[in-house]
Amino acid sequence: ADIFGAERKNSKGLNMNIISESEPFFAALDKFSDTQWTAGPLVNGKTLAGETHPVLSPFDTSLTVGQVAFADSQAIELALASADKAFNGWCRTPVETRANALQKLADLLEENREELIALCTREAGKSIQDGIDEVREAVDFCRYYAVQAKKMMAKPELLPGPTGELNELFLQGRGVFVCISPWNFPLAIFLGQVAAALAAGNTVIAKPAEQTSLIGYRAVQLAHQAGIPAEVLQFLPGTGASVGSAITGDERIGGVCFTGSTGTAKLINRTLANREGAIIPLIAETGGQNAMVVDSTSQPEQVVNDVVSSSFTSAGQRCSALRVLFLQEDIADRVLDVLQGAMDELSIGNPGLLKTDVGPVIDATAKANLNAHLDHIKQVGKLIKQLELPAGTEKGHFVAPTAVEIDSIKVLEKEHFGPILHVIRYQASDLPKVIDEINSTGFGLTLGIHSRNEGHALNVADKVNVGNVYINRNQIGAVVGVQPFGGQGLSGTGPKAGGPHYLTRFVTEKTRTNNI
Ligand code: GLU
Repeated sequence: ADIFGAERKNSKGLNMNIISESEPFFAALDKFSDTQWTAGPLVNGKTLAGETHPVLSPFDTSLTVGQVAFADSQAIELALASADKAFNGWCRTPVETRANALQKLADLLEENREELIALCTREAGKSIQDGIDEVREAVDFCRYYAVQAKKMMAKPELLPGPTGELNELFLQGRGVFVCISPWNFPLAIFLGQVAAALAAGNTVIAKPAEQTSLIGYRAVQLAHQAGIPAEVLQFLPGTGASVGSAITGDERIGGVCFTGSTGTAKLINRTLANREGAIIPLIAETGGQNAMVVDSTSQPEQVVNDVVSSSFTSAGQRCSALRVLFLQEDIADRVLDVLQGAMDELSIGNPGLLKTDVGPVIDATAKANLNAHLDHIKQVGKLIKQLELPAGTEKGHFVAPTAVEIDSIKVLEKEHFGPILHVIRYQASDLPKVIDEINSTGFGLTLGIHSRNEGHALNVADKVNVGNVYINRNQIGAVVGVQPFGGQGLSGTGPKAGGPHYLTRFVTEKTRTNNI
């Protein structure tokens, strides 16, 4: 029997070492190398006009990927009114029907895998491997929430009725859910939020990150094709300041699911508090100041392998990424020596090539902010290694992977969302201070631990306040249904995406006491 039970399996992805898988994949991917996509507000199934913006590749800004029209106030109003009107019908649609549409969407994502991966590389600058993983995760989210919704909602929970009454607890959708997603997982997190909200019986207004509207638009088209009614899933591309604030400030909405910065999550929280209408939930998954603690029993090569993938792949643009590596003094020089060699092996450049490990960051603002941080941190700390950016990368938004030694996590006033690793040495006797220092950031997303002493590893795991702890492996790439993902404190509200409690925040509960 399969470990997930008969109902569900995670998608298997692609094995690039098997030629019979990789050759047809690259042939299919090639067909999208020049495609120009267009997107716009998709309201009641119709693409509306709006102020149009060119989409430029982060890898080379002389290359266009397509055009997107941002939603204007009329599109916003129509989407809100229609999603509101569609709610009563959708929330009473049998959960099996909703789940079947999501299963169909998962199939369509797999059928359109190459186009979606091409969009990931060209619009978001993701590497091919990250693109493959992105589609897998999106598929897994759709299937996982379809199954969870059926488990939770197909039948009411029967409760005791000591006086002869029939007591039943029903779960139902909350209303119009606003789903606001980030550019770093433009398909997986985008659809994860949407699939959860839809499975639970909510109608949805999806606002993609403005940098990655094209892939969001394709995903919504596929969702409609899969049988999600057009009125039930509305798509409004645009900026947070215009579209995001208008939809989160509207009294007709029933909940918000947001992944992005802590600052924006707080802004949404204030907007929700100040608007007219019901008190509604905000599910926020935000940033991290993620640490890894490495003790002297660790194996340096394994540590470095996991540090490199946690800090530098995806150009460090995961909220789970490793930012601060705590090395016990006794092993620090050896680890840093191996790390420098491993960094030299990183291939930086075109994310559309399989050999590329580190692609661009998302846009010019991200690049400027990261470079400003590098200038500052190299003054405050001691440079361990900064890679040279290869010729050609000046055409895009590349930031040089860098490792720098610092004295304290306190010099990092905020999360720096890129390929920059900060290293802090510690003495064994100072471990309690290390734990305090990590907790003092207020963030609590991921923690890596390397140790061959289980008691030691479990002690650190217990004392650091985070959502996801990874012992003796990298700290990225949480798998749906296997490592439910999400943090605490400044890192988010929970419940965890891809976990058994996620849908609980998307529903409202009704108890029915029946004396007929
Ligand atoms: N779930 C992703 C991971 O485990 C990170 C999600 C994010 O960056 O928002 O790496």
